[in-house]
Amino acid sequence: MTIPLKDKIIYGPVNSKRLGRSLGINILSTNEKICSFNCIYCQYGITKRSFGSFIPVEKVEKALYDFFANPVRIDYLTLSGNGEPTLHPEFDKIVKKIKEIRDKYVPSIPIALLSNSSSINNLSFEVLKMIDIKIFKLDAGTEELFLEINRPIVNISLKEIVKGLKKVSKRLPITIQTIFISFGEKNNYEKEALKEYLLRIKEIKPAFIQVYSCDRPVAQNNVNLISDEKLRELEEVINKKTKILTRAYLNVPLEIRLGKK
Ligand code: SF4
Repeated sequence: MTIPLKDKIIYGPVNSKRLGRSLGINILSTNEKICSFNCIYCQYGITKRSFGSFIPVEKVEKALYDFFANPVRIDYLTLSGNGEPTLHPEFDKIVKKIKEIRDKYVPSIPIALLSNSSSINNLSFEVLKMIDIKIFKLDAGTEELFLEINRPIVNISLKEIVKGLKKVSKRLPITIQTIFISFGEKNNYEKEALKEYLLRIKEIKPAFIQVYSCDRPVAQNNVNLISDEKLRELEEVINKKTKILTRAYLNVPLEIRLGKK
């Protein structure tokens, strides 16, 4: 089961487990997913390409001004949407524009970025500094698991990603987000998989680690979410082994997510 793509530039605010009332900013496209990964748990289905008709800067700017003409309460302005935001060729310009508008209307509201980390080696520090909460994906500690879970459609290795995350983390506080799942007979949270993951985390030295599972099983890829109990256990183990602040975000039942309870 997949969920529909965001058909707008500004969407929500959505009730996010991690970011409260988060106003989504989709800079990718309003009619297709554009991503560098094809994760086995992706809620938007299969990735077809890593480029496409990105939304022009002026349209993002106008959509934000329209929102602030009739604002509602928000906790974060979040760059996310239909794929990987950092693939946008004018990502830097867009971030500068969002910051300018945020400073004008809601200077105390943080700007957050949800990224899959694939462009980490190309991002400018100047631009990253404008983003208050930088959340980067790391689902695997080995190349093999990385290829099996995130299934990149661009030429990138886990080694390069870890190198980039390490470099950024030395200068700016970053958050690592990890989705723990089982798929078929495998998973990314037991024995060797967890050991290698912890080694990568120790290399990167993020300021904060967010652990959670996927929202729902993905039948065609044999993906299953893990229990709240397991998530709590992982929170404890990761925190103990790395001495890095770690938080587990527990599973939210589907009916609550859809607002039926
Ligand atoms: S990085 Fe995000 S949008 Fe891209 S395939 Fe993975 S889950 Fe989907």
